[in-house]
Amino acid sequence: MTFAKFELAQKITQAITECGYETPTPVQSLAIPMALSGRDILASAQTGTGKTAAFVLPALQLLTNRSTLRGIGPRILILTPTRELAKQITDAVRLYGRHMHVKSGVILGGMPYREQLRLLSSPVDIIVATPGRLIDHLERGKINLSRVEILVLDEADRMLDMGFSEDVDKIAAACPTQRQTLMFSATMDRETSRLAARLLNNPERIEIAPEKMTADHIEQRLHIADDLSHKHKLLRHLIDSTDVSKAIIFSATKRDTDSLAVDLKAEGHSVAALHGDMTQGARNKTIDAMRRGKIRLLVATDVAARGLDVSGISHVINFDLPKAAEDYVHRIGRTGRAGASGIAISFASIKELSYLERIERYIGKSLPEEQIPGLEPIRPLQRLSSRKSGSGNTNSRYAGKRPSSGAPGRNGKPGAAGKKTWGKPRKASGPVVVYRPAS
Ligand code: AMP
Repeated sequence: MTFAKFELAQKITQAITECGYETPTPVQSLAIPMALSGRDILASAQTGTGKTAAFVLPALQLLTNRSTLRGIGPRILILTPTRELAKQITDAVRLYGRHMHVKSGVILGGMPYREQLRLLSSPVDIIVATPGRLIDHLERGKINLSRVEILVLDEADRMLDMGFSEDVDKIAAACPTQRQTLMFSATMDRETSRLAARLLNNPERIEIAPEKMTADHIEQRLHIADDLSHKHKLLRHLIDSTDVSKAIIFSATKRDTDSLAVDLKAEGHSVAALHGDMTQGARNKTIDAMRRGKIRLLVATDVAARGLDVSGISHVINFDLPKAAEDYVHRIGRTGRAGASGIAISFASIKELSYLERIERYIGKSLPEEQIPGLEPIRPLQRLSSRKSGSGNTNSRYAGKRPSSGAPGRNGKPGAAGKKTWGKPRKASGPVVVYRPAS
């Protein structure tokens, strides 16, 4: 299949060709024709599948027709959970819409209101927004959503995780009921299904099976931590081991990353922090020092470590679990590169139980629990959801209490093996269109 088959405006296909895209990805092959036909879509697809173009291209196509409605509000509204994603989407809109006259803008928290108010005071075609700040503008009457023709909910599961459920409902309620709604989510659980049931109208369902989630040559382990101080003790014990030749320690926030690096340095470790508040130059210098073996431990946030390619990382330690399951896969993929083996160790406290369950659902197996003599957790972490039990939890005193079977992974199975291929998708017999990468 080629992009020509979608019969998009020439200005759009030209931009796609200039991007070097030859064939649509599976999510694009399925979603673009459905979206162009005006249907609502509920798609489970994660970052890396080409989902951004799957909603941006139909949105741009819509803009090739004039709106019949008066006013200056946006015709396309794209909600996304984070600033990084908002920026990526805005870049994609500019890239794919470069031969069109599209007025787009971004509404984000933590940024000055003045510029955003200026954006909203003149006609705009596409707004990319995080829900919290958009609600502010909506409640102050600074944005009118009555002209919205397409509402996109990107990474809906993450928006719910971040507590945006009510905001998303309010925003959708301010859009016309006859709008088209396209919802994308890496995972589908009860909450996302409920959101879909509230906001979508008889949607087409698309399911893109995850690519191979976790490499077999990466050994994954889990330590249950009672609290923060327990996590610190576990970490000290692990990094004192000579097996840890080079490790990345993932922490939830920039501040925690900095303070953990400072503490470890004071304790005599060769360590540096890596996070998004550092200049690109400082980040490059740190990564280079890690590559040259000058630094043994790198304490990092997800954003900074995305795509980080340093060979010889023996361990990835998740001091805090990521909220998004796909980040877990990105994180542990920093070790075991180029066929080498690697070890990924995660700490989970009771507060992170829902993240742990989400990760285990996503990778299609449970993480085997390990305990360090003298540092055993006082409280067990009992997963509420039943799920498929993957690797044996031989080292866990809670292993026997776990359900042996239950809800399978996202698509009933762990992701199919093999590298990512963007081959031909197939239509399932039921209402859900499923694509699985070739093994
Ligand atoms: P996304 O999942 O939207 O974040 O996209 C992942 C990456 O795939 C981005 O770098 C896109 O530029 C790229 N991409 C999207 N669609 C295609 C395509 N049809 N062919 C090649 N690359 C693509």
